[in-house]
Amino acid sequence: MSTGIIIAIDGFSACGKSTLAKSLAKELNYTYIDTGAMYRAATLYFLDNEIDWDNADAVDGALPQIRISFRDNPNGPGQVTCLNEKDVEQDIRSMRVSQSVSPVAAVSAVRRFLVEQQQAFGAAGSCVLDGRDIGTVVFPDADLKIFLTADPQERARRRLAELLAKGQAVGMQEVVENLTERDRIDSTRADSPLRQAEDAVVIDNTVITQEEQLAMVAALARMRGA
Ligand code: C5P
Repeated sequence: MSTGIIIAIDGFSACGKSTLAKSLAKELNYTYIDTGAMYRAATLYFLDNEIDWDNADAVDGALPQIRISFRDNPNGPGQVTCLNEKDVEQDIRSMRVSQSVSPVAAVSAVRRFLVEQQQAFGAAGSCVLDGRDIGTVVFPDADLKIFLTADPQERARRRLAELLAKGQAVGMQEVVENLTERDRIDSTRADSPLRQAEDAVVIDNTVITQEEQLAMVAALARMRGA
């Protein structure tokens, strides 16, 4: 339950969820919660500390050591993700983390741990959250649910451009394989699989601009009391 308005944005990998969520949160002056960043930060912790996420005892021992927070970006607009107070924003976007995050996010203990924190963020006030299970599991009573889709080729092209701009040495093939594999694991896992909530508004943003998409969603949000 929340005292404010909750806007849930779900969808496949690299559909532009965070771009939309960030700009919407800015326009409405709401808190933005990047739940994918939380799964990525937990994955980084497991990788760096050589925790086997298939070992339930190891996971139970590790989770209490993981503190995830968001801080204003000291070098520009927006926010950065911190793991145990350290800025890990760059590290969590690496292919190394992208390749392990979906198996980690399929572990129920990890999901319970992070969902509880996501619900606490939402309880504190109006929020825009993006992820895979926000409208179905984290906030099933969200005031507005958006489900984003886009053409797979276009998604891969956008993600590749983003990674290259950050100086990461990756190729198109690697990006396509990663997006396809993450979508497969995220949609077929037993706990909280990625699926469209029945009451979600579906937007295919393959050919619309970011501005058009924002205007559309902001109008919907205002109709729901934002
Ligand atoms: O949003 P992003 O692509 O950064 O998310 C990374 C991964 O985290 C997803 O592929 C998915 O495995 C997991 N995730 C999730 N539930 C969420 C958000 C992300 O399982 N709410």
